[in-house]
Amino acid sequence: MPNKTLLTIAGFDPSSGAGVTADLMVFAAHEFFGTSCITALTVQNTLVVRATQAIAPPTISATLDCLYDDLPPVGVKIGMLGTADAVSAVAAFLTRIRQRSPVLVVFDPVLKSSSGKDLLDPAAHETLRKELLPAVDWITPNHDELHTLTGISDPTEAAHQLQRLGRELTVVVTGGHLDPPVDLLLEPGSSQVLIEGKHVVTSSTHGTGCAFSSALLCQLVLGSGPLEAVRSAKHYVSEALRTAIPIGTGHGPVSHLWPLHTKASQSC
Ligand code: PLP
Repeated sequence: MPNKTLLTIAGFDPSSGAGVTADLMVFAAHEFFGTSCITALTVQNTLVVRATQAIAPPTISATLDCLYDDLPPVGVKIGMLGTADAVSAVAAFLTRIRQRSPVLVVFDPVLKSSSGKDLLDPAAHETLRKELLPAVDWITPNHDELHTLTGISDPTEAAHQLQRLGRELTVVVTGGHLDPPVDLLLEPGSSQVLIEGKHVVTSSTHGTGCAFSSALLCQLVLGSGPLEAVRSAKHYVSEALRTAIPIGTGHGPVSHLWPLHTKASQSC
């Protein structure tokens, strides 16, 4: 029986649009078993993030070690980390486990919510660049995150700069807010590739970054090459946007489980 366990290390969004609960739905939709380590609680609905509460870094480290001892993942997705100490705890865990066996790591550098609340303490940006980037394989910033992390406005130049901070780091700059939505893929040693998607008009856009990075991890673990994995993850997200049922009065969640609904309707 192949190992089908993936781990998400991210924040808890009680509205289930983003964070660990959303990531677990993406894993389930791709037929993976998901485990999770919560780095921070958030108080939010579809309109606003009202507050955040960091989980103590020793609890994060203990959770990660406890899961790894019994349920070692084949892939790890990282999202909201909250504080510099959480960034260091996660970087140390990844360095430890990658000395033992290969594990694929995709990092979605969540810095702020769409409503503007800091989800990573700005004082942690340097820790992220120095400690975490060398310990991950993929990073999936949007344009604002790319600019904040590099200080460079030109996306191509900024993606190259970000790549230099890692070891063999592949960068996907997500352009979901653009029309048409174009992503930029930069693999180590290659020139950039632009990947165009279809714009979907909907208010159900909360957590698209989380959904994309989790779907990308699933595709990579399933054995897709980089370009195919990005294309498939984009398709997953655009279908999740297209089939979302509006809930709440703000930006509602995408339809994370659409592949299961499609399968169920095909078997009827
Ligand atoms: N991760 C968590 C735990 C969040 O709470 C949020 C947003 O509030 C995000 C990620 C980012 O989601 P979005 O970009 O849709 O705001």
